[in-house]
Amino acid sequence: MSVRSAVPGSTFLAAALAAAPLTIAAAAVIGSHVVAGDAPAAAETLAPAGSGLVVVASLSDPLVIWRLHPVPSAGVRLLFSEADLARIGLDQARELADRCSLTLARLRELTGLVPGAVQSTVDLAIVPEVAGLANTLPRDHDGLGRVGSAGIELRPHLLDLALSDPARWDAAVAHELAHNADVVAGTRFSSRWFVGPEPAHAWTAFVEGYLLPVFAREGDRTEGLPPESALAGAARRRQAGWAALGRPWSAIAGSEPGAAEPESLSADAQGGLLLELAGLVGADVVRRACALARAEHSADGDAGKVAALANHWSLALGADLSPWLIAHGWPVPAATAAELAQLPAWSPSVIASDDQAIACFGPGAWQLDLDEPTRLRIEVRSPPGGFAGWLTLDAGTWTARRWCLPGADTALTALLPAGLPLVTAREDGNLGTWLGAPCAVHIAPAPLWPPATPAPGLWQLRRDVVIASAPAVPSELAGRSDLTTRWWSSERGWVGTSLVVGGVAAPFALVTGGEATRIRVQWYADGLPAWPISAASIVPDSEPVAPVGVN
Ligand SMILES: [Zn+2]
Repeated sequence: MSVRSAVPGSTFLAAALAAAPLTIAAAAVIGSHVVAGDAPAAAETLAPAGSGLVVVASLSDPLVIWRLHPVPSAGVRLLFSEADLARIGLDQARELADRCSLTLARLRELTGLVPGAVQSTVDLAIVPEVAGLANTLPRDHDGLGRVGSAGIELRPHLLDLALSDPARWDAAVAHELAHNADVVAGTRFSSRWFVGPEPAHAWTAFVEGYLLPVFAREGDRTEGLPPESALAGAARRRQAGWAALGRPWSAIAGSEPGAAEPESLSADAQGGLLLELAGLVGADVVRRACALARAEHSADGDAGKVAALANHWSLALGADLSPWLIAHGWPVPAATAAELAQLPAWSPSVIASDDQAIACFGPGAWQLDLDEPTRLRIEVRSPPGGFAGWLTLDAGTWTARRWCLPGADTALTALLPAGLPLVTAREDGNLGTWLGAPCAVHIAPAPLWPPATPAPGLWQLRRDVVIASAPAVPSELAGRSDLTTRWWSSERGWVGTSLVVGGVAAPFALVTGGEATRIRVQWYADGLPAWPISAASIVPDSEPVAPVGVN
């Protein structure tokens, strides 16, 4: 079969776009535009019934339509040109579709937001390069995701990156899906918290830095850094331009004279600040803050949005965040600050005086034999070139572990049992932690991240049922009483959870539908991802199926 990758837009398409609704099964929606519509004959010519092809249009300039091969995974279809699919092969295409599906599931799990209508399948089209036609997307864009749609376009160079730099592909997909999902009750979700010329990209800056690297525990896959390090780095990078200007609010709320790119500076500063805050309060608070913002339409205007941000995040945390926000330059309205002051105080940046201090230079371990609870100050000083590594505090009945970078704040609060006095602070580029209990201190160089999580074991019970078993609990998670395993199927998405009893995960039975299915498992703790998702075990097609149109 010979397939032309694309044909220029024509009058039938213009007519179809003027008309609703979609009437042909072989047509797809990309961006906000319905293709085919009243032009069944033309669509039938481009994507004959039974061909397995999908007609896709982009309304970018110049207008083009494509017929592409769908590779489905739960909730998504990844659409390839014939040449691209032949180039990477069906196995890789399915792996990529599965990753897109996972990204979509993460977005929903963290934010509660979904692209388009709730039940829509999201089409992700890799738009082909076509000789003689400019690409449909601007050269400096990796993709295009229209707000409120259930479909995105991705530039073809991303397909090569998907194999060499998967994090870049995942970030581009997360970015465009965040645009798709940036709508709630008919208004922009991003505009409930963010001000200035680019609230949509303040939101995507946060999603890109948080969703996969931190929430999904992927870390910085390109640099091989763990989630906490990835988060600290992203928060700092995003705020760098704003910090260089002295952190004026005017650079965020409007355009700062002299700033080269006021739009991206405004978006980056806000996204970066929220990344910093998210790192201090933890993923569960992020999830609850998103739920509050979905439920409550903020007042219009900058003051209303700043008040909404302070309200949602403080209520989600159960503590007053307005002093922290004000200290970081956010003009929280006085009335909001007064209301929130009724919540417990939250002051991770307060420096307390210390009774005893030690200094650790680089990797090493120190046993502190304190015979009574002592306020202890631990300071990690950076050798030339910078130090990055784990700071572990071990007091016998509990252990806290945190990734440290020189110049980055760290917060052990979430890891410690209630009642232990602890504050953290940044001092002249060094990291200080104050802990009110006897403890041992270990500082160790970073392991490579993400750690390889082996694929689950599978036993085919019946033609359409497999029993899956999780790999051994990672040593870093051993001993946690709140562990579960969550199971992923590329056909159905998250399919269930199994308990972990005595450090061993119960096996899990999955029903498969006959298509090739990728099964993965992820460790969760206290209802949140705790370790990177595993590699996939593949249940092959249970019956011979027709090839997907590659020839
Ligand atoms: Zn964008």
